[in-house]
Amino acid sequence: MNRYYIKRFLDEIRRRIPFDQWFGKGYAFPPLRIDIELLHNCNLQCEMCSFVPGNEINKAFSNELRSYHEKVEDYPELKEWNKFFKQVSKFSPTINLSGGEPLLHPEFFEILKIIKSNKLITTMTTNATLIDDKKAKDLVLSGIESLVISIDGDEETHDNIRKVKGSFNNAINGIKLLQKYKKEYHSSTPRIVINSTISWLNFRDLSFAEILFPEVRPYKWNFSHLFLGNGDLVRDSINDLYKKRDDIDALNNFYHKINTDTLFNEMLKLKNGQYGKHISFLPEMNVNELKTFYEKPLVPIKKRCHYPYFSFVVQGDGSIITCMYYKMGTIKDNPKKLWNSQKYKTFREHLKKGLFAKCSRCCGLYE
Ligand code: SF4
Ligand code: SF4
Repeated sequence: MNRYYIKRFLDEIRRRIPFDQWFGKGYAFPPLRIDIELLHNCNLQCEMCSFVPGNEINKAFSNELRSYHEKVEDYPELKEWNKFFKQVSKFSPTINLSGGEPLLHPEFFEILKIIKSNKLITTMTTNATLIDDKKAKDLVLSGIESLVISIDGDEETHDNIRKVKGSFNNAINGIKLLQKYKKEYHSSTPRIVINSTISWLNFRDLSFAEILFPEVRPYKWNFSHLFLGNGDLVRDSINDLYKKRDDIDALNNFYHKINTDTLFNEMLKLKNGQYGKHISFLPEMNVNELKTFYEKPLVPIKKRCHYPYFSFVVQGDGSIITCMYYKMGTIKDNPKKLWNSQKYKTFREHLKKGLFAKCSRCCGLYE
């Protein structure tokens, strides 16, 4: 068993037997993962993405961060990343790079090199449209363990969602280049996981996964249900997190565009199809839960959120937040002290009393 699987196995034990959550009074064992949103800029303009300024979702859940396109001067310097990764490497967390589109970051490969020099298992979420021959080769040689690549339909549907013509073909080409270099260098990494986000634009026909499977040969194909977390920019007070949603109508409107019977049939067809054992849904739900998920979006399917016990979230400007943009500190702080600072512990203690008003359709709840 290699390091990647051993770590996944140990992480799973910690998730299933969460002593810190049961007895810790807000204290948490070291983070299993660090989610780094390297930047919020993207070369695409997906209709269901809250980072795209001015689209329907962005307007409905409007806040500053969701339209926030960082400037180069906001980014931490490499020496700051260097210090941060050196410090966190003591806990051996998995580093998950995302965006926006992380490959747009001008120092992406330098940051990746720092992470890998600290021997940290690394994954990245990308739209793959910027993976050209050189980047494919560099990614394979970097040792990055896993790439999660977003494909949301056949060429027509995918490009329609992305709002940029050619994005499907560019993404498929990027995947093929990665496969080519993996073969050339006899490398089993990066594992390629395809992620498809279910939305009102593709739920009627999910068969594209079966059609594309033999062409892209992923390690796994995951479908994410629609997560529309909302929230204001950088909250100052924990009491804000208890406030009722002010955008209930917007939330209802988006979820109600999806017919659960049609979706459930599509899910069943995939699960029972030729590639069923490689296909997963996040979260896995039975038909009743699926109906609740899409028809009553203010009702959480789970009662407890473990996310703030196992993950740091770092923003492109170096801020460290819990979730919902509740700011804890920055990468310049000592991560070990920050992770169990009084502010973090207070946040976790509050969460023990029950979910916050805006947790119901947050992806963190369903991990
Ligand atoms: S590719 Fe990702 S980050 Fe870019 S617009 Fe689409 S969903 Fe948003
Ligand atoms: S569900 Fe969990 S991760 Fe999401 S906002 Fe609530 S506490 Fe944070």
